[in-house]
Amino acid sequence: MKLSTDQVDRLRQMLSTPGLRAAIVSHTNPDGDAVGSSLAWAGALRALGHEATCIVPNKYPYFLDWMPGIEEVVVFRNDTEGRAARALAEADLIFCLDFNAVSRLEILSDTLSANTSARRILIDHHLSPDEGFDLMFSYPGASSTCYIMYRLIEALFGTEAITQQMAEALYVGMMTDTGNFAFSSLTPGLFRAVATLVERGVHVPTVYNNVYNAYTEGRARLFGYAINRKMQLIEDGTVAYMSLMEHEMRRFGFQQGDSEGFVNYALTIKKMKMSAMFLAHRKFIRVSLRSRGDVDVNLFARKYFNGGGHKNAAGGKSYDTMEETIARYVRSVREFAEDGYL
Ligand code: 5GP
Ligand code: MN
Repeated sequence: MKLSTDQVDRLRQMLSTPGLRAAIVSHTNPDGDAVGSSLAWAGALRALGHEATCIVPNKYPYFLDWMPGIEEVVVFRNDTEGRAARALAEADLIFCLDFNAVSRLEILSDTLSANTSARRILIDHHLSPDEGFDLMFSYPGASSTCYIMYRLIEALFGTEAITQQMAEALYVGMMTDTGNFAFSSLTPGLFRAVATLVERGVHVPTVYNNVYNAYTEGRARLFGYAINRKMQLIEDGTVAYMSLMEHEMRRFGFQQGDSEGFVNYALTIKKMKMSAMFLAHRKFIRVSLRSRGDVDVNLFARKYFNGGGHKNAAGGKSYDTMEETIARYVRSVREFAEDGYL
C-alpha cells in the first residue's frame, strides 16, 4: 500500500485552517476497525486544535466498551439530544471511515446527506467505493481501515503524534479485521506498523484480552448451541451455513456482537471453502459470508444478496423468511459452483 503524496498534501491543506469542525462517521453495526479508526482520527484532529465528533448509526458491541474515549462516540439511534444531527449539520469536514457507500450508514444516511456543503473524505478498504467524495483514500488491498489510518497519520504528522490511546485504538482495528493477524492481506508494512504501535504503548496481551476474552456466559453457550445444533454442511461438506432466530438468541441473553466470529468457525474445518451465517432481525435477515483463498464472497454477496464487502468477508440482507433465505443460499451456492467460482 502506497499513499499518494498528492492526496496526503491535499488532506494536509484541508486541515490547515484553524478551528475546523469535523464529523467522523462509520458504518452500521460498527466493529473494532470502525470504532478504532474513528477514535484514533478524532485524537489526531483534536491534537491539531480541531473539534471532532465521532458518530455511528447504532451501538458498537459491548466488548469494545473498555476503549478509551468510546463514551464520546455518539450513537445515532440512541441520540435523543440531536448531537449527531447538529455535529453533521455544522461540520466543515466529514470523514467517512471503514465503509464504501453512504447506504451502509442505513438510518444515518439521510442525516449525512442533508449537509451538502461540508467536504467529504473517504478513508476505507472496501471494494468499489461510491463516487462523490472530495478526497478518497480507498485501499481495498489494505487489511483494515486502521492500517490506512496509521499510514495517513504517519505521513501527515509522524508516528510521534500517536498517543498510547490512539495506538490502542489503531491496534484494535488491525487485530479484529485480520482475525488477530491470521487472514490475508498481512504485509510486512502492517507488522512494522504494529511494532511502532507497541513502541507507542500498546500492550498486546491486554488488548487481546479486552476484546476476545470479554464475552458473557450466554455468548459462550450460544456458540456451542450454534455449532452443535445449527451448523449445516452442503456441497460435499465444503460449504457451511448456520442460522439463528430471534427466540434462539433471546434464550441465551443475546447482545449485539455475540455472534461475532461464529461464521468464521466453520472455516476451521479443513476442506471448508465458504461459510454463511443468517441472523434474524425484526425486519430482515442479516447475511454474513466468509471464504477461504480464491472463493470470492464479495461477488457472491453482490450477486445473490444485494450486498458486498471483501473477497473473503462479505455480507448482505434478505427480506425473505429464514426458510426462503436458506433455500436461496443453497440454490445460489449450487449455481456459483456450476459457474466455476467454488
Ligand atoms: P460482517 O459479516 O462482519 O457483518 O461483514 C463482513 C463484511 O461485509 C464487512 O466488511 C462489511 O462491510 C460487509 N457487509 C456486511 N453487510 C453488508 C451489506 O449489507 N452490504 C454491503 N455492501 N456490505 C456488507
Ligand atoms: Mn474494516
